[in-house]
Amino acid sequence: MLDLQPIEHLIRVSRGRKIGILNKDTIPSSNPAVLASHTPMMQQYLAIKRDYPDTLVLYRMGDFYELFFDDAVRAAKLLDITLTTRGTSAGAPIKMAGVPFHAVEQYLAKLVKQGESAVIVEQIGEVTGKGPVERAVTRIITPGTLTDSALLPNEKDVLVAAIFEYDHVIGVASLSLASGQFRLRNASRATIQTELGRLQSAELIVSDAYLDRARNGDNVDAVDAVAATFGLTRVAVKRMADWQFDLDTAVKLLNRQFGTRDLAGFGVDGMDAALCAAGALLGYVQQTQRVALPHISGLRVEREDAYVRMDAATRRNLELTETIRGEPAPTLFSILNTTATAMGARALREWLHSPLRDQAVIAERHAATVAMTAAAADVQQIIGDWSDIERIVTRIALRTARPRDLVALRSALASLPALNDRLTNIETPALALLFKAFRLDERIQACLSQSIADEPANAVRDGGVIRDGFDAELDALRGLQSNASGFLLDLEARERTRTGITNLRVEYNRVHGFFIEVSQGQLDKVPHDYRRRQTLKNAERFITPELKAFEDKALSAGERALAREKQLYEQVLDALAPHVNALHIFARATAALDVYCANARNAVALKLTRPVFVADDVIHIEAGRHLVVESQVDHFIANDCDLSRSRQLLLITGPNMGGKSTYMRQVAQIVLLAHTGLFVPAALAEIGRIDAIMTRIGASDDLAGGRSTFMVEMTEAAAILNTATKDSLVLVDEIGRGTSTFDGLSLAYAIARHLAETSRAYTLFATHYFELTRLNAELPNLANVHLDAVESKDKIVFLHKLESGPANQSYGLQVAQLAGVPRSVVRVARKQLDLLEVASHPHGAQAELFAARPTSDHASTTSKHDVIEHPVLDQLRDAKPDEMSPREALELLYRLKSTVEEPDA
Ligand code: ADP
Repeated sequence: MLDLQPIEHLIRVSRGRKIGILNKDTIPSSNPAVLASHTPMMQQYLAIKRDYPDTLVLYRMGDFYELFFDDAVRAAKLLDITLTTRGTSAGAPIKMAGVPFHAVEQYLAKLVKQGESAVIVEQIGEVTGKGPVERAVTRIITPGTLTDSALLPNEKDVLVAAIFEYDHVIGVASLSLASGQFRLRNASRATIQTELGRLQSAELIVSDAYLDRARNGDNVDAVDAVAATFGLTRVAVKRMADWQFDLDTAVKLLNRQFGTRDLAGFGVDGMDAALCAAGALLGYVQQTQRVALPHISGLRVEREDAYVRMDAATRRNLELTETIRGEPAPTLFSILNTTATAMGARALREWLHSPLRDQAVIAERHAATVAMTAAAADVQQIIGDWSDIERIVTRIALRTARPRDLVALRSALASLPALNDRLTNIETPALALLFKAFRLDERIQACLSQSIADEPANAVRDGGVIRDGFDAELDALRGLQSNASGFLLDLEARERTRTGITNLRVEYNRVHGFFIEVSQGQLDKVPHDYRRRQTLKNAERFITPELKAFEDKALSAGERALAREKQLYEQVLDALAPHVNALHIFARATAALDVYCANARNAVALKLTRPVFVADDVIHIEAGRHLVVESQVDHFIANDCDLSRSRQLLLITGPNMGGKSTYMRQVAQIVLLAHTGLFVPAALAEIGRIDAIMTRIGASDDLAGGRSTFMVEMTEAAAILNTATKDSLVLVDEIGRGTSTFDGLSLAYAIARHLAETSRAYTLFATHYFELTRLNAELPNLANVHLDAVESKDKIVFLHKLESGPANQSYGLQVAQLAGVPRSVVRVARKQLDLLEVASHPHGAQAELFAARPTSDHASTTSKHDVIEHPVLDQLRDAKPDEMSPREALELLYRLKSTVEEPDA
């Protein structure tokens, strides 16, 4: 179980999406006696609703989907539709809200966006007049299990995840139903938040027991509490019974799904908790989809140490795919996304969120990019015309593919030879693997070309989907329809000759069908085999056995042709089914190729270079840039960065607006990009081994989570101090500002010290506490740098250039003036500052913290901080506890104590 302590601070305000918790008081009881008091239709509704107490039920009535009772109230609010009533139930009016059936997709999209699920109940029986039409659940839509093109965002994968804790391991299973990718991973209480932040699933399944433990007092919604624990803001938490996480059941279920006898082949050793989660997840998806899911054909185990760790706050701070305000642009993704396909865009997004630690794998990606440089534009031109094959293939597997999906796949496959041509002679190991996926079985294309018409209708039920000449029976049925007029003319001519009635006509109308019309004056010539059908004023209408037979055939031919088309369409899907796996691999290869091409083209357009991985412990960047800021300013100043074991912490000072945050973020982004396999905005980047990127940036209140700025700050700081290693890159921006100056300064001091001495992480530490710049006297691996600014005539000009040494002043008053603070206020502030500077005499607490010997680069600032150290400190420094006997140690302690008691001793 997670440490739920922080929840206490978070639960007050809901962050997660509530699952539809129905107020059990207002839904009528399912007790038979009470049920009997309802109309038969309401009884039917309630019987269905009973199975889905937590989900909105959309109940089809004629041209509308209706919601009742509390569902109606909630839907009215969520969808902004009118709440009405319909009849009464046990004396009280039934609340009702509805949406028109033809617009339902758009309302469903709105619901899933808000984290809601919906159950669709359709009329499946005939209207008999006796009792309500038979209805049944046909679809269950949940935010994490979307496959419908109308509901899925193009450039984003939608995931459902499940977690289960067993024996101190938290197993995580995740599935993208739209692509069939099923992944398992182990996490711990310390890393689960990071892991869920990386996945960003739309839905999270947890066990009852988990929720019960998260529940904190009666009035707290456990669902909210769980979401809050993981720092997830946009997740729908779903509960499932504990038994659904049973290991044996899970293994059986997974084996049945994959058609395997043993899961060992997937490398699931030591993944029991994750298997439990996977079993529950698969069960959930099977239950909501209600069809076979052949495209989920295996799973992949991801090792926790495969990725450069980044928690949710870091992803946000670095603005990878969303700005801090939650906008899609400008972000790293929005600038780098020059992919030509939606599949490529999704892959790029995933790469950005999943930096790898295995430098060999990343180097292969880099090599692939280089190899693709010359062909990139041509390749993107070819694949840019392709539809979203990955999702089309899933719909083929789920048998929901529409005719135009197949046409889109066919046209992509048609240009595959041209693509393969363009790719000849390009060779790297990573690319060879992709190119293999482009050698598809020719039967796929043959099947699609032979069976599907050039421009088929939207839906099979409209007909005209199967190509002429594909099926003799269908051709004959179609022939009957289209040859009708020829047949009738021919019959007319033959009958005229046979009977000698020259004005005899063969015709058709809707009411009477086919007939031969003979005018009054000619009736004596009518042969015996004519049977009367209708008498008019001036004519009689007849039918013959031949015409009757034709009529039977022709009238049913349309219907039979449609039925035959449906059958053939199913057969086409059957024929494609065995290729689903290969097609998915093909789609993913296309996505990766697209990203390589985008990367190669960005390298030129955005002046990116290939990063170099080195064995030394360094982060060495020359002329690094921040891509987003660069896109916003006229002239961006590039800056270097040098971090190594002997220069582990850069203490960054400089005025507000000087570019400190920009600089720190750009270093982190460059390190991150390097590990995704993308190129970096720098003239040169040499990077050693990195295991994590951690940030403590920005001072945003997490009001929704009920945490003050300072609490957020300290929570993030705690996470960093507890987990950073010497291979981690840590960014700390303005720590300790949400409390009193001395508190804040002391904390900042202690945190910087811990990072430099104990964690020994690569650290960029921006601060306004000027006093900290003196730390380099104590910490040899700390270096002062600053962002330069110059003052001219009371004004300040930011140079945005990183220089060594501490800044010589903070320019706070100048920046205030720049921001429009009235001159009179700035004048008073200046006077006050002078007073304060005089008052901060050497024995102040602030100074004592930094009782270090002055060093050269502080010459200009040390005077007012110089203090006399307490002699105890020197004695302590000289003491060597490892070499002391217990007695000596005790003696030292007595000595120190006496020194403190008699300061002058
Ligand atoms: P600080 O963190 O020191 O307050 P920021 O990093 O937020 O400063 O930078 C403030 C603004 O200065 C940015 O929004 C950007 O417009 C500009 N800026 C920062 N760094 C650079 C740079 N290297 N080149 C050009 N402009 C920059």
